[in-house]
Amino acid sequence: MSTAILEKISENAKAVDKNQIPARYGLELLGAQKLFVRDSLRDTARQLRQIAGEDLSVAFGIWAHTMVITYLRTAGTEYAHRILPALETGERPGVTGMAPAFKEAAGAGTIDLTATPVDGGIRLNGRLAWASNLADDAVIVTAGRTPAGERLLLAFDGDAEGVTLGAPFALLGLNATSSAWVTLEDVFVPEGQILSRDFEAFISAVRPTFMILQTSECLGVADAAISAAATRLTGINAVLTEDVERVRDQVTHLIHTQELIAAVLDDAAVVDRVKLLELRLAAAEVASAAAALEVRVAGGAGYAQSSPASRRFREAAFIPVQSPSETQLKWELARAKAQKEN
Ligand SMILES: Cc1cc2nc3c(=O)[nH]c(=O)nc-3n(C[C@H](O)[C@H](O)[C@H](O)COP(=O)(O)OP(=O)(O)OC[C@H]3O[C@@H](n4cnc5c(N)ncnc54)[C@H](O)[C@@H]3O)c2cc1C
Repeated sequence: MSTAILEKISENAKAVDKNQIPARYGLELLGAQKLFVRDSLRDTARQLRQIAGEDLSVAFGIWAHTMVITYLRTAGTEYAHRILPALETGERPGVTGMAPAFKEAAGAGTIDLTATPVDGGIRLNGRLAWASNLADDAVIVTAGRTPAGERLLLAFDGDAEGVTLGAPFALLGLNATSSAWVTLEDVFVPEGQILSRDFEAFISAVRPTFMILQTSECLGVADAAISAAATRLTGINAVLTEDVERVRDQVTHLIHTQELIAAVLDDAAVVDRVKLLELRLAAAEVASAAAALEVRVAGGAGYAQSSPASRRFREAAFIPVQSPSETQLKWELARAKAQKEN
C-alpha cells in the first residue's frame, strides 16, 4: 500500500470521526488500487493494521468488506464469482451480518433469522441487531436457520424487497460506518445465493481470517495510541514511562505473533484455535490499555472531542464490544483450553 493512501486516510480521519465523510470512501480508495485482490493474509493483515492506526472507522469498514469478499471466495459458487468484481473494485460495499453465526458456532448464541424453503430458494425473516457498511447497493452476507434446523449461509442485496436498513443513530465513535439494524420480511433469496449449507465447515474455513483481521483493528489502534503516548513522557508524565514501555513491548510482540500466525495460515497450515483466541484477546486488551495510557498523558487537550487522543479512545471503546466481545473471547478461550485438556 502506498504512503499516499495512508496519508489520505490520516488527513480525512477527523472529518470521518465527525461523520462528514462516510467511511465507505476507504472501500473505493483501496478498490481503485486493486488492494482487495491480495492473496496473502499476512499482507492483508499488515495493510489493515496500518489503516487502523490512522482511522478505525475506515479500517472497520474495510474489515467488514474484506470478510464479505472472503465469504464469497470461500463459497466459490457461480453467484459468488459473478458478484466478486464489484466488491473487489470497491464499487459495492460488503456487509457481514455474521455475529450471530459466529456466536452460534462458538456455542455462545443462536442464529436469529429464519430461512423457510420455498420454490426456487428461501424466504428470510427476522432482524439483525447490528451491521455496518449498510447501503442500498450493499451485498449482505448472513446466516439463517430452516424450520428443520438446517443452517445456511446466504447473500442478498441491500435493496432486495422486504429488506429494511435501519437509520444510523449517534454512537460513541465510528459514526461514519453506516451501522444500524436490518429487518427482513419475507425476503426471497434465490437458491443460487445460498453460499453454503455446510455451516460448521464454512465457519471453520473463514474464522482464521476473521480473527486475524480483527486483530489488525486492535493492534493498529494500539500501535498508534502507544506511539502517541510515548512522545509525551516528559515532566510529571515520566512516572508513566514504565507503563508505556510495557504496553509498547506487548504491542510489538503481538504484531510479531500476528505476522507469524498469518504466514502459517498463508502456507495452508492449521493454527490451533487456542492460539488464535489468545492473540485476538491479547490484542483487544492491549488496545484498551494503550488508549487509556494515551489519554492519561494527553492532558486537557486530549479531552477535546476533535483531538486524535479522544478519537482513538472512543474508537478503542468499540474493541471490547465487537463480536466476539472481550467477554465472549475469555469464555471461548477457557472452554477451548478445557476441551484440549480433556
Ligand atoms: C458500531 C457497531 C457496529 C457493528 N457492526 C457489526 C457488523 O458489521 N456485523 C455484525 O455482525 N455485528 C456488528 N456489530 C455487533 C457487534 O459485533 C456485537 O455483536 C454486538 O455489539 C453485540 O455484542 P454482545 O454479544 O456482547 O451483546 P449482546 O448479545 O447484546 O449481549 C449483551 C450482554 O450479554 C452478554 N452475553 C452475550 N452472550 C451471552 C450468553 N450466551 N450468555 C450470557 N451472557 C451473554 C454479553 O457479554 C453482554 O454483556 C456492531 C456493533 C456496533 C456497536
